[in-house]
Amino acid sequence: MMEYPLTLKNLLERNRLLFAKKEVFSRLHTKDFRYTYGDYQKRVRQLANVLKELGVGPGDRVGTLAWNNHRHLELYFAIPCTGAVMHTLNLRLFPEQLIYVINHAEDKVIFVDVDLLPLLEGISGQLKTVRHYVIMTDEDKLPDTRLPSVHSYEELLKGAPETYDFPDLDEWSPAAMCYTTATTGNPKGVVYTHRGLFLHSMACASADMMGLREEDVVMPVVPMFHANAWGSPFVAVWVGSKLVLPGRRLDPKSLLELIEQERVTVSLGVPTIWMGLLQVLESGAKYDLSSVRCFIVGGSAAPEIMIKTFKEKYGLHIQHAYGMTETTPLVTLTRIKSYLKDLPADQYYRLAAKQGVIAPGLEMKVVDDSGREVPWDGKTMGELCLRGPWIAREYYKEPERSAEAIKDGWLHTGDIVTVDEEGYILIMDRAKDLVKSGGEWISSVDLENTIMAHPAVAEATVIGIPHEKWQERPLACVVLKDAYKGKVSKEEILDFLRDKVAKWWLPDDVIFMEAIPKTSVGKFNKKQLRQMYAEGKLTAQ
Ligand code: AMP
Repeated sequence: MMEYPLTLKNLLERNRLLFAKKEVFSRLHTKDFRYTYGDYQKRVRQLANVLKELGVGPGDRVGTLAWNNHRHLELYFAIPCTGAVMHTLNLRLFPEQLIYVINHAEDKVIFVDVDLLPLLEGISGQLKTVRHYVIMTDEDKLPDTRLPSVHSYEELLKGAPETYDFPDLDEWSPAAMCYTTATTGNPKGVVYTHRGLFLHSMACASADMMGLREEDVVMPVVPMFHANAWGSPFVAVWVGSKLVLPGRRLDPKSLLELIEQERVTVSLGVPTIWMGLLQVLESGAKYDLSSVRCFIVGGSAAPEIMIKTFKEKYGLHIQHAYGMTETTPLVTLTRIKSYLKDLPADQYYRLAAKQGVIAPGLEMKVVDDSGREVPWDGKTMGELCLRGPWIAREYYKEPERSAEAIKDGWLHTGDIVTVDEEGYILIMDRAKDLVKSGGEWISSVDLENTIMAHPAVAEATVIGIPHEKWQERPLACVVLKDAYKGKVSKEEILDFLRDKVAKWWLPDDVIFMEAIPKTSVGKFNKKQLRQMYAEGKLTAQ
């Protein structure tokens, strides 16, 4: 066979040759915008010329601080295809974290959406390596800003040639990077190579994984700064799917309108996004969602009741996927095997709520504390370890933390799982979130899912709180649906759980809240809840 470099240039070129007529929809600050991949290709080349003009060379890091929109998509290919490294910045990081990741990555240029300017204005004095800021706005004029060395994206593109000879890069060269927030200490950087992204995209596109195809209309709600929107922009460009980029209006109604208007077939997001949509549908609002083939949910466990309600009441299929920033991110996805499709409903949905089977191309093992592999019996818990061509082999410039997580060629995920006889993985908890009661483990994820099956509950999360005798005990934080606010007691929630979980799993307390704090990527923020509890601030609101 030929020696052929697996680089993003192949993805971009295939799109140029085959899909020039296909559309990209982009929701901007002031208007909705659409163009074709044909126009997209020209602008990617203009952008590549602009990067050169700005002095960006091979290996240089270029930051993006942007919503899901067409300019961000242009950066997704222009930066890596010129040989530079796209560093997607999480717009929900605290200022200190943003300063840290920009300095640590040594970003040379930052592209920023105009409404996110204030995030940079406050910290630019502390950014040591940034030479240029490029502002992405629909207006003719740039806003007044305190940032030094600013340029207008559209002005720069206007003057740039529409041709660019993308180099043939080494497949092992870095293409992108993303930081993941750690429980303790600074965020950790993960660098994606061209090869890793290429092979990950192939796996994502395959039929039993995401199975994205030309005829799909793909809407990533998951931010393009969260593990490359789970790879969906790369795959969509490659296979020629129409992309619908929802910008910053991510409230359930706007998303439902967009799905209806653009006839979205596949959309990707964290569970809170789909729970929000479900609440609107449950309130009786009507939308034509007949185009939808599936909603891909990941980032945190998708509650079984949500999967079931979407399917049974609205005919909508939820596809559960699991991964992490360190794994590019797709690791598992739940497709029900052909001979399991006729399982009784309760078993079927229990399976659909598991995180799924390992992607082709990756290897896994699940080990106990002593490093021995645990049996695939659906009961024995162990830590999930992974290896494969799109699994990180280190954290960027962090030898010590790398050595802690990557041992003997395996990434130790910190996720505690069971595997059943069929190979379906069920995430029981992050190791640090497991509730350790009297020497036994309680799965907070399992408890949360059970509580969320209560008809009055909108959201629920469970944390371990210190206990004198038992070491830790579970505490449930519950948000009630609007119609039930003030009408449901703690006892009712506990009664609901009594015949569904072991007696010693019953939470010691249930706290009703207005909202559960979320992390920068929309997951329940258990670290903050534990801290609030320790400071005596976790009380009913
Ligand atoms: P991040 O790097 O921010 O995407 O976080 C990765 C972590 O999110 C994983 O290690 C898991 O603990 C969690 N996670 C991701 N997907 C799922 C899922 N489908 N179910 C449960 N936990 C998940």
